[in-house]
Amino acid sequence: MTHSHARQLFVMTAVISILASGVALWFQRGDFDPLDRLALPGIGALWILSSVALRFRWLRLGQAQLLMFVAYAAYFLLALNHQFRVFAPQHHLLSQNTYWFAPLYAVAFLYFLPQQALRFSLAIFGLSLLITVAHFVLNPALGGDLTLVASTLQFVMVGFAMILLQAVMGQRHTAMMAKQMAAYQDALTGTANRRAAEEHLLALEHSSASFTLVLFDLDHFKGINDQHGHAAGDSVLRAVVHEAQKIMPGGTMCARWGGEEFLLILPALPMPVVARSLQDFRECLESIRVGGVTGVTASFGVAERFPSETTEALLLRADRALYQAKALGRNRIQYSTPGSSDAESQ
Ligand code: GH3
Ligand code: MG
Ligand code: MG
Repeated sequence: MTHSHARQLFVMTAVISILASGVALWFQRGDFDPLDRLALPGIGALWILSSVALRFRWLRLGQAQLLMFVAYAAYFLLALNHQFRVFAPQHHLLSQNTYWFAPLYAVAFLYFLPQQALRFSLAIFGLSLLITVAHFVLNPALGGDLTLVASTLQFVMVGFAMILLQAVMGQRHTAMMAKQMAAYQDALTGTANRRAAEEHLLALEHSSASFTLVLFDLDHFKGINDQHGHAAGDSVLRAVVHEAQKIMPGGTMCARWGGEEFLLILPALPMPVVARSLQDFRECLESIRVGGVTGVTASFGVAERFPSETTEALLLRADRALYQAKALGRNRIQYSTPGSSDAESQ
């Protein structure tokens, strides 16, 4: 779920919850439960406040979610405590109120990362168990009421089953996410792989965004491998990615396009800014010192997208510029001009 979807979901939940609280209060009119009379309007007000705070960015989504989650957990636990004193002895059952513990456990796994969700759920479950046991101990007459005992046992078991289920689902979700991440990551350098770059390019192609592609290839890398060994070559590749991530402007995607060739996808920036960053990057490659290797250089081909240009055509221009940079003696940056097959050197 994207961040903006999660925000929409939060505001939608706010609207539904406020309506549900209103309906609950309306049904109880004339015979207000004292806790509900305070808690339901209070939670409604919290929903409104947190949605407004989210809108004006006074709160981050995670903080707003935590606030509402804690508010509901506190309300449900208080209601559980309350019903053991009033509702249960009269009706020999736990009230329908307890049904809401199950969605609370589910929401924990929606709002938080699996481990944190499990901790929250276990804390709520532990507290509900504590409240339940405390009432049976303090009021032994409740223990003689077998219908109530059965109803309470069901409540405890459903809570336990929900947590178990969510923990397993959470674990599966984590494993799936890790796999998905790995599918878009280069194993050696940890940066985006070619597939990630291609998908990003596909998304950009469908937009009218302007952006710049830079293909760069390390010079005489075979020589580095031959001279210093493959492991040293690997360290150089990692160091190159590290420098690119440090030096290139924010929003730049650095992907390993293949072997010792990389693709940078830069956001819309004035060309002098792009040129300055690339110049800095090119110079800093020479300062890389790993595994006895020094004087690493690379050749660069740069192509800025002109309106409605396909990414295929843009890539071809960047590739041609890179080829020219190699042909002109390496360790240089070559700029492709749209429409022409020649690139300018800088
Ligand atoms: P040029 O300046 O023309 O680009 O010369 P080059 O030696 O860099 O180019 P060439 O294509 O001849 O050799 C590329 C080398 O990159 C050969 C290959 O073994 C090495 N290489 C590709 N992937 C890796 C890798 O993951 N680790 C290491 N250590 N070497 C790699
Ligand atoms: Mg090379
Ligand atoms: Mg190459």
